[in-house]
Amino acid sequence: MSFHVYNSLTRRLEPFVPLEPGVVRMYNCGPTVYNRPHVGNYRAFLFADTLRRWLEYRGLRVEQVMNITDVGHLTDDGDEGEDKLEKQAKKEKLDPWEISRKVAAQFFADLKALGIQPAKVYPKASDHIPEMVEIIGGLIAMGHAYEVGGNVYFDVKSFPAYGRLSGNRVEELDAGARIAVREDKRNPEDFALWKSDPAHIMKWETRFGPHGFPGWHIECSAMARKHLGDRLDIHTGGEDNIFPHHECEIAQSECFTGKPFATYWMHSKFLQVDGGKMSKSLGNTYTLDDVAARGYSPRQLRFALIRGHYRAPLNFTWDAMKDAASSLENLDDLVVRLRRAAKGEAAAEPALGAELVASARREFEAGMDEDLNVSRALPGLSALRAAVLENKLGAATAKDALDFVTAANRVLGCIAVEEELLPADIEALIERRQAARKSKDFQESDRIRDLLLAQGIVLEDTPKGVVWRRK
Ligand code: AMP
Ligand code: ZN
Repeated sequence: MSFHVYNSLTRRLEPFVPLEPGVVRMYNCGPTVYNRPHVGNYRAFLFADTLRRWLEYRGLRVEQVMNITDVGHLTDDGDEGEDKLEKQAKKEKLDPWEISRKVAAQFFADLKALGIQPAKVYPKASDHIPEMVEIIGGLIAMGHAYEVGGNVYFDVKSFPAYGRLSGNRVEELDAGARIAVREDKRNPEDFALWKSDPAHIMKWETRFGPHGFPGWHIECSAMARKHLGDRLDIHTGGEDNIFPHHECEIAQSECFTGKPFATYWMHSKFLQVDGGKMSKSLGNTYTLDDVAARGYSPRQLRFALIRGHYRAPLNFTWDAMKDAASSLENLDDLVVRLRRAAKGEAAAEPALGAELVASARREFEAGMDEDLNVSRALPGLSALRAAVLENKLGAATAKDALDFVTAANRVLGCIAVEEELLPADIEALIERRQAARKSKDFQESDRIRDLLLAQGIVLEDTPKGVVWRRK
């Protein structure tokens, strides 16, 4: 397979080889539904979507699972702090279950608006308590976990590979964790699989006691196993998930099943604001509504978030949005012009045309094959636009080029490739302008052109007549 991915586990670019030929089992850490996800979260989810789309472009069937975390994710990402959902529930004076329903609905609406392909399933942590209890019970029986007064901890010293993903060493963690040591832990860096707290609202009666709730990490181990099996090809998340979340998932899953958990671990870099992380706790986040209020569509946002490399830093600014919107407008324009050329309006077939299309395709595929390097994949499309602007493509090559751009857009998911029919009143205006021009009433023809422009329709007079495109 020509597709190479950067594997966080080995810190190397590796050829992608799925466990079962032709099928990819992929798990993406999804949102914690206490607050509507912000555009930074969507950078991570759009990366997962682009990855899935690229695997499909390469002919693989992708079994994709993205979870919904609705309980157990504490404010410090580890074992301390408040449950994010319960904290938000107090703030909004609502039931945490209600918060989770409300935010999950917003999340699904956002996914749709951003053109994210639906995963096979979006499992909710609270629906998988028996699966978690089964793994925790097994880990206790095997000596990897221990119970203390209703809490269950994973003994990290029982798993020598602990720290391999993040590069953390248990001894160093030891020293750090001692500051906030929990008396009931055997080692300060042990992490909770199950916690007991009578005051917790979202709680379950299990063999560990009457008032328990799961740790965040065990949720993903249990949901991945339930929906994809013991072994995964790819596990993704944002860079902050590497430690402790994914390090702990590996420990739990591998000790329980005795098998390697995920072959490839892929992590997207943060979306930043002013050089720092965009995050709800820092209060520097934007939602899709904030982006819409500035006049940008979800399609333009999608392009702004995917057009760089997912492991390159990306700063969210309105200037960057403006730049992305204008580049996307050029790609939309490319499609309009190719369609026109394919209908035979362009000159005879120039010799270079076919090679231009082939090289754009090669460049796109080589960029995407290189660990989804979208920024390397896109210039081929710009070169095609330059060619069509210079009338270098005949009808047959324009048709080929159009097929290629349409295929590329099954991965990019944001170029306007559908042929659009104008509403009748706009068509009528264009005809009236034509008539005005014919009778040399340029004042009237300019007036209609401005009227159309105000509605986002740009007219262009070509030797073969007037053509339109959306602004
Ligand atoms: P959470 O809702 O906090 O569980 O996060 C959901 C996903 O978004 C995780 O994969 C995080 O790593 C990711 N994430 C959080 N903040 C950012 C950010 N500023 N940029 C990119 N990804 C993020
Ligand atoms: Zn997770």
